[in-house]
Amino acid sequence: MNIDAYNESILNCRFCFMCRHLSAIGNVRHTEADTPRVRAAMLYGLRTGTNSFDDSDFVDALYRQDLSACCVRHCVNHFDENGLALAARADVVEAGKAPEAVAALAKQLAATSSWKAEGKGGLAWFLDATTASDKAAVATAKKLFAAAKVAPKVVTGGCIGKALKVLGFLPEAKTAAEKFAAFLKEAGVKTLVVSNPAAYDALVRDYADFGVKLPCKVLHVTQWILGAKLKFAKKPGAVYPIADDFLRNYDNLDAPEKLLKALGAECRPFGTNDEESYNCGEGAVVLDRLHPELVGDLARYVAARADDPKKDTLAVGSVYAKRALAKAGLKAVTFEELAASCL
Ligand code: SF4
Repeated sequence: MNIDAYNESILNCRFCFMCRHLSAIGNVRHTEADTPRVRAAMLYGLRTGTNSFDDSDFVDALYRQDLSACCVRHCVNHFDENGLALAARADVVEAGKAPEAVAALAKQLAATSSWKAEGKGGLAWFLDATTASDKAAVATAKKLFAAAKVAPKVVTGGCIGKALKVLGFLPEAKTAAEKFAAFLKEAGVKTLVVSNPAAYDALVRDYADFGVKLPCKVLHVTQWILGAKLKFAKKPGAVYPIADDFLRNYDNLDAPEKLLKALGAECRPFGTNDEESYNCGEGAVVLDRLHPELVGDLARYVAARADDPKKDTLAVGSVYAKRALAKAGLKAVTFEELAASCL
């Protein structure tokens, strides 16, 4: 089973409650089944025969997880309870026990895996479907590219494998990754700038895990902005930076912090600690499609921790988080929107 690679996490997490406060879903549902300890205990039970994927409550708990990877980051031994959860989902799918809604979503996503490129040259910008659905985010990127006097190819299209992997559909995710890598090669892309942190993580980590070789260098948009040495005419003032699930917890990328520093942002600490995720399930990529009610609860949990929910500006990594937080009345902008506002 895929979970066998996470034996240490199963054996250790099942007796540990140290990171329960970082389990975002546990914090809004107030349920032990939504903590790393009980998930690990349930998976231990799967191996000893006292639990089974026939138990829909168990499978539903696996598909409720926010997958922020906060627990792994802050665990003193860095036991990978997040990787364990992803492996467990893959085992659910391999056992043919994926919930109907999950299987239907995966089928829809796999059908979107095709792309087109418009423009010339080796520099390209991946305008993924989530970012493309936010007009302000699209206008922002175009403004930044114009300020840098570059006109990248714009690559648009569907799932490059990330959401499929997160749902546990590994062969389908690998197929999408192979197709996207071949597409980039055919399109002559040498450097790919990526706005969506989930897509960035797919390209720099998942593709390597799948053994899929990319023909190009991959930059998150914050890295590209820093390298473009843009001239900023003004400072953004006070902002509350929200650490991104993928960029911080999965990829350990410090470009967002460096960008905020380069902009001269007056950074204020958000909430009660800098360990938990305030991204409303961004790490689970499609949690807003499977459980919109939970994403609403997560956003209200974040809003309750804002100093002044109506006025504070939260700087986030993804359109996913921006949209979820906006529904709870919060003013969130992406890191690149903040940069563009300073030009
Ligand atoms: S990830 Fe670390 S802190 Fe969290 S339950 Fe496992 S062992 Fe405990």
